[in-house]
Amino acid sequence: MVNFYDLSLLELKQFLVGHGKEKFRAEQLFRWVYQKGVTDFSQMTNISQDFREEIKNILDFKLPKVVHQADSVDGTRKFLMAVDGGKNIESVLIPNEDRLTLCVSSEVGCAMGCQFCFTAEMGLMRRLNVSEIVGQFLNAQKSLNGTKRITNIVFMGMGEPLDNVDNVTKAIEILHEQVGIGLSKKRITVSTSGIVPQIHRVAKVGARLAVSLNATTNEIRDKVMPINRKYNLEKLLEACKQYYLESKDMITFEYVLLKGINDSIDDAHRIVQLTKNIPSKINLIPFNEHPESGFVRPSQHEVNKFQKTLMNAGKHVLVRRTMGRDIYAACGQLRSEMEKHPQKMSV
Ligand code: SF4
Repeated sequence: MVNFYDLSLLELKQFLVGHGKEKFRAEQLFRWVYQKGVTDFSQMTNISQDFREEIKNILDFKLPKVVHQADSVDGTRKFLMAVDGGKNIESVLIPNEDRLTLCVSSEVGCAMGCQFCFTAEMGLMRRLNVSEIVGQFLNAQKSLNGTKRITNIVFMGMGEPLDNVDNVTKAIEILHEQVGIGLSKKRITVSTSGIVPQIHRVAKVGARLAVSLNATTNEIRDKVMPINRKYNLEKLLEACKQYYLESKDMITFEYVLLKGINDSIDDAHRIVQLTKNIPSKINLIPFNEHPESGFVRPSQHEVNKFQKTLMNAGKHVLVRRTMGRDIYAACGQLRSEMEKHPQKMSV
């Protein structure tokens, strides 16, 4: 059996042709499954009975299972989904004005070892397959019962998406497919810690790029984000420039503010210098404190001062609100709660 959700439209066509079927059937199947939500072949009434009988023996529909769903008072909805191998991944729906953004995971755990991140403590368990990425969208969309549509996707959940770039870009193609979900690629953002050789793949697939900057010198970045020892700031920023030249899309630089580590006014000035030739905006993320992390969140006053310095230099800056605290939806929190209190989080 082949899992339907692992196949792009092109692959499905090739698969059907390989089984002696007409390739236009692939578009019919995409419409039934992704546009009408129908996975029961007997309901696909414009497809011949013979075809349906044969196809049900070679294609199946397998998604991650939602094992926990929790709504926050701020409108955030958190999902824990079980994937093969007895592990869980997390996805978060985040409403924001006219947008409804789904934050998806790309891996179980992560190999990047960022010092401020809970997920890093798991190490990399495995990369998600395509159906597990697309499945996070389908499960979250289903939970809305037709009342709303997910408008945006960000690859900012567990894992480094460019460490799983083939499956992430294929999932983006599937989510974008016009005879399927039809989500604009300009509404899909891939966030990387800085896997420089793969950044061009984000431009190639046509998605937006976000980069976790988080330090303004190689000395500090080497410490908080070990990936910097392999691809330093100079290489990272050069890849960002190339991304812009190819895509003409503005980049988002994310900057987790860690008190006394990367939040000085000198840091703010250096951000301006580092990003001056790269059309971009800055998202400031005051660190979300958790026990044993060893890092401290700067005060609101310090955050404001940092933001103002950037704004005075002409940068477009936003301070990201921490949403979903009451359901442990802020980055990395749910996983730790699952491990500490599994009984509390079970369905
Ligand atoms: S911040 Fe992102 S890239 Fe870094 S360890 Fe955590 S999940 Fe991985």
